[in-house]
Amino acid sequence: MRGRTGEHSWVSSMATKEKRIVKVMRLRILKPAGEMSWSQLGKLLRDTRYRVFRLANLAVSEAYLNFHLWRTGRSQEFKADDMGKLSRRLRQMLADEGVAADELDRFSPTGAVPDAVSGPLFQYKIRAITNKNKWREVIRGTASLPTFRLDMAIPVRCDKARMRRLERMENGDVQVELTICRKPYPRVVLQTGDIGGGQEAILARLLDNTGNDLTGYRQRVFEIKQERQTSKWWLYITYDLPAPQTGKADPDVVVGVDVGYAVPLYVAINNGHARLGWRQFDALGRRIRKLQTQVLARRRSIQRGGRVNISHATARSGHGVKRKLLPTEILQRRIDKAYQTLNHQLSASVIDFARDHGAGVIQVEDLEGLKEELTGTYIGARWRYHQLHQFLKYKAEENGIEFRAVNPRFTSRRCSKCGHINVAFDRAYRDAHRENGKTARFICPQCGFEADADYNAARNLATLDIEALIEAQCARQGLTKDAL
Ligand SMILES: [Zn+2]
Repeated sequence: MRGRTGEHSWVSSMATKEKRIVKVMRLRILKPAGEMSWSQLGKLLRDTRYRVFRLANLAVSEAYLNFHLWRTGRSQEFKADDMGKLSRRLRQMLADEGVAADELDRFSPTGAVPDAVSGPLFQYKIRAITNKNKWREVIRGTASLPTFRLDMAIPVRCDKARMRRLERMENGDVQVELTICRKPYPRVVLQTGDIGGGQEAILARLLDNTGNDLTGYRQRVFEIKQERQTSKWWLYITYDLPAPQTGKADPDVVVGVDVGYAVPLYVAINNGHARLGWRQFDALGRRIRKLQTQVLARRRSIQRGGRVNISHATARSGHGVKRKLLPTEILQRRIDKAYQTLNHQLSASVIDFARDHGAGVIQVEDLEGLKEELTGTYIGARWRYHQLHQFLKYKAEENGIEFRAVNPRFTSRRCSKCGHINVAFDRAYRDAHRENGKTARFICPQCGFEADADYNAARNLATLDIEALIEAQCARQGLTKDAL
């Protein structure tokens, strides 16, 4: 553990009386920005880390010594040296060890590392392990003297306006200035592609909150850490956000979300029923399908070696396949963007629905990796269902709603009224019984309950402990695990 409890208490007591949730996300440091080379940046990071490591261990042994002096009556009080003082001492120690003056000055004119590094080092890593209780444990032998390893993370404070924070550049890159030394600070580009929808959304919120104000996501501290196996450097971003208003969400009210065959999402709640307005998503769905058709057409055209229209925006110099593929890439980016917008709208609607009904739980089918299950649904197998899950999950968390992905087995074949599993109501049956493009209706052979198939599935998903109920029902009906 890296002292997470310390962070929590620090954030909540410093920030505001209002409760906030502290979280961490990490992004890879892709490369140095500007003039600096990777070898220069790597050296600077390793130098900083070495100083942080020395400073952390110095602080711990100092505190131990002071406690010992106090306990044995040789000093009047237990008082650990502050980090600024220790940082100055460490600088002197490094000078005595023969570190060149310009190397020393690269960091701070007075200390081994600047306040932006020594401050959070104390707040996050040292404070919690250098209190009297901890030292008593060490002396009694119930705990060992804590030490830091050379590969420890470098903490950097970034919650004050003068401290540099994440910045979106004009070309779309996300950069940050690392205040780990004296100016000019090293500037790095972070990897923001392929990080997943949830992380992208969080990053967007961090970037939007330029004033770092309390209503949004606030950057608190960075940690720079090198991954041992790959030697790659990562930036860990500790941020906080307002805790959801509690008291309204009822853990017994469950919203079930079904991927519909006639609608994008069918939503139901367990203590009644309602449906999500879905027509608003028609336009985006049409756009995505149109773009996908275009992509396929371009790919076929390229395969045939035929002429490819290169639009103005993509007419770059260069020849060959790469140039021909460019329009497809651009189409693909547009599709990605449209999916993202669609998933944002869908997840926001589900959350609104859940909030309106005071639901404490959202249950969805866990269809990850099951492309087949999505074939024939409103938007089809290409729908980024995983991304929708991620969006739903973090938005649910923000609103104090639990997100659960449940096993989809039999959720569309169980009667939501009496619990009987209608094994015959499978995909083949449903496809064969479509009427006027509408999905087949679910009819229960046991109790006669009849409903729209999507609605019936959503009602099942809105049932508490649905997986256990289905399992028990399977046992009653003698259905084996592999009956699908
Ligand atoms: Zn029934």
